[in-house]
Amino acid sequence: MATIDSASHAIGPKTRRVIETFDRYVVPNYRRFPICLVKGEGSRVWDAEGREYLDLFPGWGCNLLGHCPGPVVKAVQEQMARLIHVPNTWYTELQGEWAKLLAERSFGGQAFFCNSGTEANEAAIKLVRLRTNGEKYKIVTFQGGFHGRTMGSVTATAQPKYHEGLGPMLAGFHYAPHGDLAAVEKLIDDRTGGIMVEPILGEGGVVPAPAGFLEGLRRICDERDLLLVFDEVQCGCGRTGKWFGYQHFGVTPDVITLAKSLCAGVAGGAMLTTVDLAKHLRPGMHAATFGGNPIAAAAGVAAIRMIEEEGLLEHVDRAAAAFRTRLAALADSCDVVRDVRVMGMMIGVELSIDGAAVVQACLDRNLLVNATQGRIIRLLPAMNVTQAEVEEGCDKLGEAIREVAARGAA
Ligand SMILES: *Cc1c(COP(=O)(O)O)cnc(C)c1O
Repeated sequence: MATIDSASHAIGPKTRRVIETFDRYVVPNYRRFPICLVKGEGSRVWDAEGREYLDLFPGWGCNLLGHCPGPVVKAVQEQMARLIHVPNTWYTELQGEWAKLLAERSFGGQAFFCNSGTEANEAAIKLVRLRTNGEKYKIVTFQGGFHGRTMGSVTATAQPKYHEGLGPMLAGFHYAPHGDLAAVEKLIDDRTGGIMVEPILGEGGVVPAPAGFLEGLRRICDERDLLLVFDEVQCGCGRTGKWFGYQHFGVTPDVITLAKSLCAGVAGGAMLTTVDLAKHLRPGMHAATFGGNPIAAAAGVAAIRMIEEEGLLEHVDRAAAAFRTRLAALADSCDVVRDVRVMGMMIGVELSIDGAAVVQACLDRNLLVNATQGRIIRLLPAMNVTQAEVEEGCDKLGEAIREVAARGAA
């Protein structure tokens, strides 16, 4: 059983039955907490035993507007009753509208729709290759990056733990240390077609590109005729207080990939590129059967409208400032906190102690957070998190960190 030990919350009878069914019928490829979630609203979520949690990592970054945001629920419910799915052999008004909204908020290009982050990256990988008919097929990616789990995207992911046991990886990927422009230059030859990078590393520990790095990549791409691909699956769609992560750096890519937050919790992905490059994805060369379907499109459009109607980009700046103040105070008073990185609602708290123990200590306080890279606590709060929730979350996180630190010292 791949259930994480969780001493504080006794497993109730309803939850036990669900776990038994999973043990028998669900592939055990995830480590799960022994908690069965049944409903959510905003940054609150409830389990089958009736316990309430504050969720500062809602939907692993997918629930950008919290659990069950009203306008998205309504748009999806109405769309469900009208048209659930039609293939891309037909036009639908919503898919076009969605692409237009995304273009107007990014660099004005065109969208290819798919269903997940890894698929969006596969589309980008194919676009790089198709642009030169496969001549310039090599792509440079970065250590600490994460791009997904299908064979192309997982090969792009320069972390050996994700390659273990898979045998030969896809040809043509070359890895540079994150931030190292000289290493990138050395890896490039006349078969290189692109560079792929997250403007803010997500799984890698919430690490923004160092100063000058993205500008340097843009220059290299311009000089060597390469495509610059930004994987914004985690940092895109408004999470950082701007529509897209790249807009913090003043560097415009040729391609961006989106998923997670894109449809506020409904499955959906997209690759955005320029009109000029988009023509290389010729009919027949790439497709996704469910891509841009009416439900995802309804959710995607509703999410963008909700962010604008409720002024959530501006709200993110205020909520981020509150997190920054509270977490800076924590870092000052608690020496196991090594660094705090706040990029809007993308937050990393780097510790000198075990992150998993802190996640557990937060769970003991009914607070949901995540740990990545061993010692980094990651929060991906909803854009509409309230001031009171920020305070409560920081109180509990601080207590949890102190408890685990004291245990280590004892
Ligand atoms: C989660 C993630 C992916 C993969 O997305 P899936 O929808 O799980 O395929 C790709 N890139 C980044 C930056 C991610 O955070």
